[in-house]
This record gives sequence, structure tokens and C-alpha cells, in this order.
Amino acid sequence: MSTLASGSQTIETIAVIGAGTMGHGIAQVAGASGFKVFLSDVDREALARGVRAIEKNLAKGIQLGKLTEADCDRTLQQIHGTTRLEECATADLVIEAAPEKLDLKRDILRQLEVASHRPFIFASNTSSLSISEIAKSSGHPENVIGMHFFNPVHIMRLVEIVVGEKTAESTVETVTQVGRKMRKEPITVKDVPGFASSRLGVALGLEAMRMLEQGVASARDIDTAMELGYNHPMGPLKLTDLVGLDVRLSIAEYLHHELGSETFRPPDILRRMVNEGKLGKKTGEGFYDWHPDKEDAHGAPSS
Ligand code: NAD
Repeated sequence: MSTLASGSQTIETIAVIGAGTMGHGIAQVAGASGFKVFLSDVDREALARGVRAIEKNLAKGIQLGKLTEADCDRTLQQIHGTTRLEECATADLVIEAAPEKLDLKRDILRQLEVASHRPFIFASNTSSLSISEIAKSSGHPENVIGMHFFNPVHIMRLVEIVVGEKTAESTVETVTQVGRKMRKEPITVKDVPGFASSRLGVALGLEAMRMLEQGVASARDIDTAMELGYNHPMGPLKLTDLVGLDVRLSIAEYLHHELGSETFRPPDILRRMVNEGKLGKKTGEGFYDWHPDKEDAHGAPSS
């Protein structure tokens, strides 16, 4: 088992709250790094889907010759799924990857503090919410921090460490070390709306949607402009499909409210598609058609 001691904080067990798009990936990299992991979700089906997604990622790793069967077995053995939040109260570090709602994240933190008999670090994977606001529900705001991973977690190298008003230096140091142990490249960012990455990334994505709405070019051509013209590995609309249109909409609403800038006003097309249930890859349709029966599931524009 992996142990990580830093200052006064020792990290052996990590609990990941929420087994969705981000949570299962975080659990996978934590398990692969040797931490004991609890992966928790309120929804039994979502938990099962999360575990299946980890197994699929690992199988792909074997197929590509990047992992051995033994690596995969070791990782899976480290991960324990649960639908009971109380089980996570024994963790040294909780990484919360529940939906992007301030009250929900505060509530999870409060419940864990009631259930836990010792101090733990609470790191939110929020894309945009204020860490200091989340920490207001905590009896230990010095232990609350942001650990913003990127999708897909097992591939993307960045982790944005977001430092709240009351976050202790030892907490920053500990999660930075955990991030490195997970083979991520941590950057440290002040707790401002959208941090560094979301503010820039969301601005680009929303502008691409407005261009699509105005008929400037097709989804594929807008994406190709950034992929070939600016060397982005993936265009902003395809990336939005991977992130989830609903996730992007709530971040845009939040940034629009907090920063008061028209740059972040959600375009009509985004609201319409979310209302229609076109949430991107997870529902099979977004700006592209992701249904597996499509000849080119990664490139057939659906609107
Ligand atoms: P998701 O909807 O895919 O998964 C969220 C999971 O949390 C669901 O399985 C849901 O059942 C579960 N959940 C809901 N309430 C819960 C509770 N009380 N306790 C435990 N589990 C609960 O969401 P996601 O895309 O993984 O996003 C999670 C967080 O990560 C959000 O804050 C989001 O802003 C952030 N984030 C998302 C991305 C992305 O690309 N999707 C990238 C970076 C950060």
C-alpha cells in the first residue's frame, strides 16, 4: 500500500465521492498509485457503471501494451465500491466528484465531518465553484482545498490545486504530493471563479457554440480550426461533448453570474440541447453523434 507523509499529514486512504465521469477516473489513478480507495456513489447503478469504466480503461491499457494483467489486478484490488458515505469517513483524503452544486458539496462535507472521528483533507474536484464557499460548511476550513482533475483523468496530466482563503500551507503541500504520486503535474491557483483552466476553456467553448449558432462553420470545421490552426489536441465542441453539455452549462451560468461578463452568457444552442437531453458523449449525442453504430463515432456532427 502507498503511504504519503507530508508535514503533519499522512495519506494512505483516499475516498472518492461520486463515481461518474470524473470520480471513476480519479479512483483509478489513485488505486494505480497504490492508495487504498473507497469509491462512493448514492446511485448503485452509477457506482457499477463507474467500476465497469475503470475495468474498461485498464483492459485498454493492456491492449495497448501500457499495462500488465498484474498492474490491473493490483489497481482493482485497491478500489472498494460503496453506496454508504459513512464508510468514507475513515479516509485521510476525500476527493469529492459529485455534481456541480454548492449545497450538495457542502452537505457531503458536513456529513463526512459528522461521521469522521479524526481530521481529513477534503479536496473538491469542482470545475468552478469557490473553495472558500464550500469550506464555509466545514469545522476545519484549513483542510479544504480544490483538486481539479481533467477528463479523461487517467490520461490528462494536469491537476489544478485551488487554494481557498483559509486553506493551510500543509494541505496545499500534501495534495500537491498526492497529485505528483498520481503522476499528474500540479499547478497552484488562487480561488477565483473558473480558476485558470475553466475560465479560459469555457470562454473558448462558448464562443465556438455562438459561431455554430450563427452558421459561421460546421462543428467539425470549427474544431478543426483549433486543432490544426492552433495545435489544440481537440476542438472546443468535441471537448464540450466529452465534458458534458449540462456540466458546461452550469459552469457558464456560474461564471456569468460571478464575473458579470457577457463572454460567459450561455448561448441558446447550449440551453436547447441540454433541454433536449443532448448532453454529449454520455447520452450518445451532443455536437457530434457518439452512438457506437456510427461509422465515425468521434466525428459525425449531429447538429
Ligand atoms: P457526473 O454527473 O458524471 O457524476 C457525478 C456522480 O455523483 C453521479 O454518478 C451521481 O450519482 C453521484 N452523486 C450525486 N450525489 C451524490 C452524493 N450525495 N454522494 C455521492 N455521489 C453522488 O459528474 P462529473 O462530470 O463526474 O462531475 C463531477 C464534478 O467534477 C463536478 O463538480 C464537475 O464540475 C467536475 N468536473 C467535471 C469534469 C468533466 O469533464 N465532466 C472535469 C473537471 C471537473
